[in-house]
Amino acid sequence: MSQLSPRMVALGTARSEIREAFAFAQARAAEVGPENVDDFSIGNPSVPAPPQVATLIRALTREIGPVRLHGYTPAQGDPQARRALADDLNARFGTDYDPDCLYLTVGAAAALCCALSAMGCPGDEFITFAPYFPEYKVFAESAGGTLITVPANIEDFQPDMEALRAAITPRTKAVLINTPNNPTGVVYSEATLRALGEVLTEGSRAYGHPIYLISDEPYREIVYTGAPLPWVPDYYPDTLVCYSYSKSLSLPGQRIGYVLVPRTVTDFDLVYAAVCGAGRALGYVCAPALFQLVVAQCGGLTSDLSVYRTNRDLLLDSLRSMGYTCAQADGAFYLFPRTPEPDARAFCERARKYDLVLVPGDSFGCPGHVRVSYCVPTEQIRRALPKFRALAAEYGLGK
Ligand code: PLP
Repeated sequence: MSQLSPRMVALGTARSEIREAFAFAQARAAEVGPENVDDFSIGNPSVPAPPQVATLIRALTREIGPVRLHGYTPAQGDPQARRALADDLNARFGTDYDPDCLYLTVGAAAALCCALSAMGCPGDEFITFAPYFPEYKVFAESAGGTLITVPANIEDFQPDMEALRAAITPRTKAVLINTPNNPTGVVYSEATLRALGEVLTEGSRAYGHPIYLISDEPYREIVYTGAPLPWVPDYYPDTLVCYSYSKSLSLPGQRIGYVLVPRTVTDFDLVYAAVCGAGRALGYVCAPALFQLVVAQCGGLTSDLSVYRTNRDLLLDSLRSMGYTCAQADGAFYLFPRTPEPDARAFCERARKYDLVLVPGDSFGCPGHVRVSYCVPTEQIRRALPKFRALAAEYGLGK
């Protein structure tokens, strides 16, 4: 047998539980009809991209011509596109970013890989809070580090600062956060971000090097609080932001996002150079050219996100009234209720008897919970409610 990387073979062979659940739902839909299967496994936006995206593609094709439009851009992205994105951020957050603070990438996944690889040295630790997006472990290890997880605060899923303090060591290179959060739907409060900035400032001082904060924000625009999301770099100067248009513009397949390195970051020039170097080393140069130009002209635009709010209200209220315990989820398109038995995998197996497809919290480093991904037609939620109710009754919930 040829000599292959055992790690890569393992990563390519072991399917994630999310993918496995999705595949199960697809197989059941082929067997019993899609109208009988309620799949809440995956975070694929259920609303189309705004019509302006198609209009922009037509206009750009006409105006620029296919050769330039589909040609290579500089490795870090088209300068005019980066200018437009920096201007948009500045208008929204009162910042003064310039094009050379941005590195365009194929989605948030590549942005995270670039940010982590830019700073990862052998033996480094990256800290995140459970529950967390499972790929963080893969990305952190690819960057040469280890992912350290701080246990979940299951009351409201706001990160526990004392637990973070205890987890920081001389080897801590960065802390990775995600708000609004996948899988909980929780939006980190301003108090949380302020406290986080304080703990990281203390830790950086204590160990004599910056502990970076990496803020993963693909759900930034999907918030139901009515108030704009706090801008994370305002709370800690050593913050890098990883963003994606996958969810806000419903463009997950187009693979477009960025890393933002604000000039407040310690050793800015070196950090930005390292992000560019990581992009080069990973082969993530020149993000999809057409979509660089499209998103550059989409400042302030999102898909019609209103259905997610309708779904959140309907599902959260209904689950709670059935007796499920679920933290307030004011963003993204996920709920993370507690399972009525400690074994979330067993609960998901029971749910499958109703063709109700959920993902166990174990996948996200938080057993005893289940992720319900509600980026689905509202009709699917209505149809699934009796199934959730029947499951609740099996456990005697709500009595
Ligand atoms: N980070 C989080 C928290 C996500 O939920 C996702 C995708 O679901 C990603 C990163 C990756 O996003 P992208 O599709 O833009 O690579």
